[in-house]
Amino acid sequence: MKYSKLVETYQQLDQTQATLEKTDILAELFKESDEDLEHVVLLALGRIYPEWMEPEIGVSSQTMIDVIHQATGRGKDEIEEVWKEKGDLGFAAEEMVKNKTQQKLMSKTLTVEMVVDRLRKVAEMDKEGLSQSVNQDKKKKEIADLISNAEPVEARYITRTVLNHLRLGIGEGTVRDALDEAFFNGEHSEDIQRAYDFTNDFSRVAKACQEGLEEVNSLDIELFRPIKSMLAKKVDTIEEGFDTVGKPAAIDYKYDGMRAQIHVKDGDVKVFTRRLEDVTKQFPDVVKAVEENVKSENCIIDSEIVGYNPEDGSTIPFQRLSKRIKRKYDIQKLKKEIPVEVRPFDLIYDEESLLNQPYRERWEKLNNSIEEEEKILRSVDHEETSEEEKVQEMQQKSLSDGHEGIMMKSLDAEYKPGSRVGYMVKLKPVMETLDLAIIGAKWSEGRRSGWLGRLYLGCYDEENDEYLEVGRMATGLTDKQFQEITEKLKPLITKEEGRKVEVRPEVIVEAEYEEIQKSPEYTSGYALRFPRMKQFREDKDEADSLEKVKGLYEDQK
Ligand code: ATP
Repeated sequence: MKYSKLVETYQQLDQTQATLEKTDILAELFKESDEDLEHVVLLALGRIYPEWMEPEIGVSSQTMIDVIHQATGRGKDEIEEVWKEKGDLGFAAEEMVKNKTQQKLMSKTLTVEMVVDRLRKVAEMDKEGLSQSVNQDKKKKEIADLISNAEPVEARYITRTVLNHLRLGIGEGTVRDALDEAFFNGEHSEDIQRAYDFTNDFSRVAKACQEGLEEVNSLDIELFRPIKSMLAKKVDTIEEGFDTVGKPAAIDYKYDGMRAQIHVKDGDVKVFTRRLEDVTKQFPDVVKAVEENVKSENCIIDSEIVGYNPEDGSTIPFQRLSKRIKRKYDIQKLKKEIPVEVRPFDLIYDEESLLNQPYRERWEKLNNSIEEEEKILRSVDHEETSEEEKVQEMQQKSLSDGHEGIMMKSLDAEYKPGSRVGYMVKLKPVMETLDLAIIGAKWSEGRRSGWLGRLYLGCYDEENDEYLEVGRMATGLTDKQFQEITEKLKPLITKEEGRKVEVRPEVIVEAEYEEIQKSPEYTSGYALRFPRMKQFREDKDEADSLEKVKGLYEDQK
């Protein structure tokens, strides 16, 4: 398929806000995509790889300005000026290509395949171990070659794809429904959703859709490809917990650690976060613990990795443990400073998928397949009861041991990937915080000039796939945190106007606040009063939803 065909569709999608219309437009495109469908589906989501795969293009707006300059011969100042004026580097690229001073002797017509191949090549460069400057130069050259072959409007969308800033308002639900409409007359969205939950890969699901419903339903879990974790609903009382999960229920301690999905394939181990990131290299101690204490040769364990103080063995909060998630060097040293214990709580796969088995059986199988060893690997503290008093006792013990509270789980429930269905609930005494994306910031003046200060926080509107502002945070941050935030945000800047910048919503922070108020001033319609920074959530890549904000607002009343 010509890339220009996809770009036509992008333009149509840009012109409508209505989800149903977007679904129809996409469904038409999918029907016509034939052998390009796998790529087209990814590009429609603004991706070049399925969600669970690691490589990222890794190019900032500043680098993209160099690229446009290389490809078109237009001055960087000019490019920056149009960027500021139009608020989007995509438009700037389009303008520059329209009036480029450099002409290629022989330009090629871009195809969808060429664009994906080239951008994948760029993303893979990070693996080559090149120095930062050589790596960036090579990336620039590859993307510049694409831009110099692009028509103006194609350059707009290539630029946005590179910067991970397509903003078409297309979420996973829209792609699911469009596939359903294109291949099954809109009758099998549940089957498609199931296939997606298992594979985390719409390109694969799309291919199966082309082949038929049987193929869609045959897609299953595969080892070493993470699936979405089942999430918990929040309850305020033990009674509410029992109402949700039934009696008797399993009661676990809720640890303040890192969710880890551990895969064992023919005895080899991989560790994934709930963002589906592969963190095996960062946790050699977890790999060893699993190699030595898990009997099954092919399984998936759902677990919490809990950090502890090496001096006295006491549990440390997630905030300190999170240092280990991103760290690519000094791993052995950090492993000693922040040792961890693996606390498995579910078994999703054991030579075959266990998703449809009741939790009671999965729990039993889990315990049969591990050998417990203190401070290395032990299943979570767990009781099964119908008595509120017993639950209360566990809750108090959990809190006095320094944990977060308890989880209550339905013994009969299956495992539902990616859902907050209420098969497990969390009960913790502290006020619910919100995990929000930083969507903008302001350059500071005075002592902190050169740093991004005031932070604009956004929640995620699932229906329209966009971030809406819900608060501004300027306090509660140390100088070190301001510095850290500036470093994190700089490469994500998409627009600058005066002192204000907009950034891609990739940095998630956990915010505390006094209360939630209704506010017409903020795009979400709600405002946090006195939001304060609690910590970065390195383990998350999506903010809490607008629905959650609404729910918390209602709960306050
Ligand atoms: P929170 O900030 O409260 O951890 P969250 O948004 O990260 O919430 P939830 O699904 O709402 O995630 O809460 C469940 C989380 O609690 C799990 O993702 C897991 O990391 C953690 N957890 C700790 N102990 C357990 C346990 N025994 N069983 C299940 N999850 C546990």
